[in-house]
Amino acid sequence: MQWFGKGSNNVEDGRSGGGGKTVLGGGIGIIIVVLGLFFGKDLTGLVSQMPAGQNTEVKKGVPENDPQAKFVSGVLESTEQVWDAEFQAMGKQYEYPTLRLFREGVQTACGSASAAVGPFYCPGDQKVYIDLSFYDELKNQFGAAGDFAQAYVIAHEVGHHVQNLLGISAKLDEARGRVSEKEYNRLSVKLELQADFFAGLWAHHAQNLKDFKLEEGDIEEALTAANAIGDDKLQKQATGEVKPDSFTHGTSEQRMYWFKKGFETGDIKQGDTFSSNNL
Ligand SMILES: [Zn+2]
Repeated sequence: MQWFGKGSNNVEDGRSGGGGKTVLGGGIGIIIVVLGLFFGKDLTGLVSQMPAGQNTEVKKGVPENDPQAKFVSGVLESTEQVWDAEFQAMGKQYEYPTLRLFREGVQTACGSASAAVGPFYCPGDQKVYIDLSFYDELKNQFGAAGDFAQAYVIAHEVGHHVQNLLGISAKLDEARGRVSEKEYNRLSVKLELQADFFAGLWAHHAQNLKDFKLEEGDIEEALTAANAIGDDKLQKQATGEVKPDSFTHGTSEQRMYWFKKGFETGDIKQGDTFSSNNL
């Protein structure tokens, strides 16, 4: 894809100096849901230890000479334009999320996180967090190369922001502790597949934006990424077996299906994964 816009005003660059020594999953703390891209890497909750005085310098915007950061900023801007229009059509006002670039570790309203969790969205501060080295992982470990695979990642996380604004993710919070783990995982899959649908919907509408150019092979790149990070595939790679009850994000096939459905229809009404039996 190509983006000819100036980039979003809502990117923060917190990459200088790294985020300090952050701890994932250790010690006591509040478990807060964050919404990520794959594996049990989100929704397992990040546990915050909030070491004091480790503030990284955060700058607004991205450096001119940093093409990857510029690209991410452009993708974010295109999501702002698409979701502005979608919310307007629903008679609502879209509130822009902030995208924070970080390196290694970061402190968020959802707790401290290490880059190992992958990109994620924290509802508490309405920010999407990404360490750009994830894109190397996506390419080298998951075999999903290409700029549109990278754009899909951002669009998926922005999809979680949309769910937050629409009160959809609150359903999951409310279910936590009230339903069985199996049922909770089932709801989690629906939430994740809807974020994939929203990413597809973004791609559908982004094509028509003045500053956007979809290129040949783009959609395939996104589908390759969605395919690579399906729960079944990741579990098989990690443990050699597949346990559907523990899925939190959906199978490769489901992830591709919902992205594609969003892309083909561009119709938000088609994205109710919660009432769909066709998962
Ligand atoms: Zn997700």
